[in-house]
Amino acid sequence: MEERGCSREEVISFLSGVRAEDVHHDHILSSMCTIPHPIAIAVQEMFSATNLGDPGLFPGTMKVEDLLIRSLGDLMHLRSAGGYATAGGTESNLQAIRIAKKQREDVKRPNIVVPASAHFSFDKTCDMLGLEMRVVPYGRNYMVDTERMAEMVDANTIAVAAVAGTTEYGMVDDVPTIAKIAKEHDCFCHVDAAFGGLVIPFLERPVPFDFAVEGVDSISLDPHKMGLSTIPCGCLLLREQEMLGCLNVDTPYLTVKKQCTLAGTRPGADVAGAYAVIRHLGREGFRSMVAGCMENTRRLVAGMEACGFSRVVDPVMNVAAFSAGDVPAGWKVSHTRDNHLRFVLMPHVTRDVVERFLADVADGQDE
Ligand code: PLP
Repeated sequence: MEERGCSREEVISFLSGVRAEDVHHDHILSSMCTIPHPIAIAVQEMFSATNLGDPGLFPGTMKVEDLLIRSLGDLMHLRSAGGYATAGGTESNLQAIRIAKKQREDVKRPNIVVPASAHFSFDKTCDMLGLEMRVVPYGRNYMVDTERMAEMVDANTIAVAAVAGTTEYGMVDDVPTIAKIAKEHDCFCHVDAAFGGLVIPFLERPVPFDFAVEGVDSISLDPHKMGLSTIPCGCLLLREQEMLGCLNVDTPYLTVKKQCTLAGTRPGADVAGAYAVIRHLGREGFRSMVAGCMENTRRLVAGMEACGFSRVVDPVMNVAAFSAGDVPAGWKVSHTRDNHLRFVLMPHVTRDVVERFLADVADGQDE
């Protein structure tokens, strides 16, 4: 840190220079985040000084967080669902498994059983909580093999997880069967819908994955992915608000005397932004946005197959994967663990972007 500060212009000029080094969104084809909706950006400033970590000082902002949780609970078919706004899917997954662990303190060598598709946040969770992580192999179509899952659950299993919208292939696990397995073994059932939670309800043929499925205890759902909010904003949703009580610690010097969240200081601005988008777009707006992403996904699949790349699975949502091959320079596409090309057709990946990408792929093949 320098002794003397520099002018606003100098700082802004420096920052715009480094920001220009970032990849432009119209070349990012594999991110699960996107350009925030203008309304989310508009409310940022209004709420920039708010801290949800001390809600007694910001009761208005706390009301917005409650409204966000209530809206998403309603979308997940449980208006009474509890929860809070997290920093994203990683925190939501960690906190859900912490709750599961607290409920089973009698288990001396606890394990959790997760699909092979599980996001790496589960590795972090198990490391932090001292849990064994049992990874169930893929079955059909990169979904978890539920028969193997049932075999891998035992008396030391404190939680099973399902993924609704897998990070690599966008698949949705058979949540009803997984919730049944959890129920039979009296263990917690967590659904990681960090990505799919704001996609699946708006598909033409939604599949069951939320609180409508008996036995689902908690859901991770991230507004900062398909919810077009600013980063960070995730949500942990719980069948019962009281489940959070086991995470409480005493917070003597704050305006509230207990805190269950992982972070202390928490941004109200992103939460207000997430709520603003949901309120502004409504189900109709989300349905239309998801329909557009799905149409672009179908176009990408048709175009890639015409160029000789074969799809790995039929996309269920706006994620597509193909047999490996060269991608034209300048485009940012990632690879799955099985070395497939992976695309996420976020709202910023417009039809025009898809056409430009496909034209580059075709040009590359002509050379
Ligand atoms: N869960 C799933 C299914 C994800 O796809 C991701 C990230 O892509 C996460 C959890 C982690 O979310 P975050 O990066 O917001 O912590």
